[in-house]
Amino acid sequence: PPTETPQIVVDAHGLPYLNSKLPVKKRVADLLGRMSLAEKAGQMTQAERGAMGKPGDIAAYDLGSLLSGGGSTPTPNTAEAWAKMIDSYQLRTQATRFQIPLIYGVDAVHGHNNLVGATIMPHNIGIGATRDPGLAYETGAVTAAEVRATGVPWDFAPCLCVTRDERWGRSYEAFGEDPALVESMETVIQGLQGRADGRDLDRDDKVLAAAKHFVGDGGTEYGSSTTGTYTIDQGVTKVTRQQLEAVHLTPFEEAVDRGVGTVMPSYSSLDLIGDGQGPVKMHARADMINGALKGRMDFEGFVISDWNGIDQIPGDYTSDVRTSVNAGVDMVMAPYSYKEFHSALVSEATAGRITGKRIDDAVSRILTQKFRLGLFEKPYADTGGASEIGSAEHRAVAREAAAKSQVLLKNERNLLPLKKSQKVYVAGSNADDLGNQTGGWTITWQGSSGDITEGTTVLEAMRKNSPGLTYSKDASAPTDGHDVGVVVVGETPYAEGVGDVGNGNDLALSAADQAAVDKVCAAMKCAVLTVSGRPQLLGAERLGAVDALVASWLPGTEGDGVADVLYGKRPFTGQLPVTWPKSEAQLPINVGDASYDPQFPYGWGLTTLTMVPEGGTTTLRALGVAAAVTERAGAEEAGRALVTKARLIVQQQAVTPALAKPFAEADRLLTQGRYGAAVERLTAAYRAG
Ligand code: BGC
Repeated sequence: PPTETPQIVVDAHGLPYLNSKLPVKKRVADLLGRMSLAEKAGQMTQAERGAMGKPGDIAAYDLGSLLSGGGSTPTPNTAEAWAKMIDSYQLRTQATRFQIPLIYGVDAVHGHNNLVGATIMPHNIGIGATRDPGLAYETGAVTAAEVRATGVPWDFAPCLCVTRDERWGRSYEAFGEDPALVESMETVIQGLQGRADGRDLDRDDKVLAAAKHFVGDGGTEYGSSTTGTYTIDQGVTKVTRQQLEAVHLTPFEEAVDRGVGTVMPSYSSLDLIGDGQGPVKMHARADMINGALKGRMDFEGFVISDWNGIDQIPGDYTSDVRTSVNAGVDMVMAPYSYKEFHSALVSEATAGRITGKRIDDAVSRILTQKFRLGLFEKPYADTGGASEIGSAEHRAVAREAAAKSQVLLKNERNLLPLKKSQKVYVAGSNADDLGNQTGGWTITWQGSSGDITEGTTVLEAMRKNSPGLTYSKDASAPTDGHDVGVVVVGETPYAEGVGDVGNGNDLALSAADQAAVDKVCAAMKCAVLTVSGRPQLLGAERLGAVDALVASWLPGTEGDGVADVLYGKRPFTGQLPVTWPKSEAQLPINVGDASYDPQFPYGWGLTTLTMVPEGGTTTLRALGVAAAVTERAGAEEAGRALVTKARLIVQQQAVTPALAKPFAEADRLLTQGRYGAAVERLTAAYRAG
């Protein structure tokens, strides 16, 4: 049994793997050649820090990684406490033979959402609505800087799910229902990691990313349960090979091209129509992990299992270990069962049921990322960037993202933007609730209502524009005398599962919100904002009575961004990232369906961008995509220049007439998916202009 007493067996100083001047490949080979099977197995093991019996287990089991998981014990509340905690674990690796640093991971899925005071971005569904790859990049960069400043080098993000049914409780973690949209937002990977070849990973403001959940997590079927609860989360994705490729796999190809460092398999099962296997858990699918991901796509990073993900494979734990590792899982997230995992892995490898070659491949992949992250040179937290956490600059990015994520679905008689002279009446459950506005995965796994962190609610931001506004959550205050009502409705926080159980687990408004909408909209002209992770169904009659409707998604800590568009400081430019159905009976409903008859189609979004000539709105999108494509092609300077241009246009809200035509043309090319041609057109226009 592994020893409890930390002791340094070999002074590793001077060995080739410690020489930062050697190529990573050489360092990996040198270190791997010295390691025992138990040490290798340790590198493939990830424990949950709160679940870990004793910190001494780090050395005793040669643990390669720790995480603070969603369902974790309470985490520290300050950057300093995070850094101190992680350093204390890192110190434990000094008691191992080769002092291989731990890689610590967290879910920072919309900013460093584990830390009170951090900048919280809109959830991905809102980022998808911005249609702005440059902005997606920036949200990633801010997130990475705040995460790394607390000593964490690894982020289990982005979620690349293509959400096909909004009854799924993780819909808001998706950029949208269209794989092309998801792909265009993957600039976030560069924001997190830097350059695709991994050269930036050792910077104190970059982190290793994890593309999740591979593959088909957003495509699970609803209603296949026999127990009465619908297993749409962690359920079965039943698709043809062609559908799998076209809808769910392509975003991962993009992520691999972008050099994503890790990939996390999905809890769901894949039922590939025609392959005769029936539903098979993704953690067991060698054809997908070894085959599609590592083989065909040539993914060079490592595969981290989901939380207890291998346990769901039928059979006993030893066979789960064998099946998943042989399928291509390199590191197992075994929050509580890390000892069992370690010993099963060693015994299966000793018995030859997992080959030495497979183990060496897994460990090489893991060590490669650790070297790239510079952990051997700098294992301890560099909190130099901690003063930037929640800074005005970072919040400005989140504010812009919040503003651009707002989708104006309906706007009778141009009710929006509001005028400062108007007397405004504000109501609804989500007008003044930071926790509801940030949603799940905020401070705690499930998130919670109320004042859970630092930020500005929609109401607080509106007050800055309308100091005299009336606020009455349940609309019980007298409604007379007001010019316009703004009712902010929506969901309470949730993570995973099927969603807002407290509100009836469907897309309908809560009874209280329905009453508030009815009361306010009967008394005055009114706008309804849905602060939610997915479309909210008002019902035909109520929708008819509403003058303006805005999908606000889960905008994050910067309510000012929402107020910016409400008051016309910025134009509404957001577009629906998912189809907005008429009724739940229509679900699943997605663009391209044979009988597509939604309330608002995918891509819908009215704009109040009036100062930009024809073609200008789409221009911003064109520029963003062009920037993304250029960046991916490795021409970073050009990519950045395009982003800067896009930004200028946003600021000036104007393009020269000379550019309007090429912009419109580029936009047409983009809608045809001809990115290269669009970039060329734009580039030519810039040169000429
Ligand atoms: C989720 C993952 C997450 C992991 C660690 C799981 O429940 O499915 O997305 O990365 O927990 O918190």
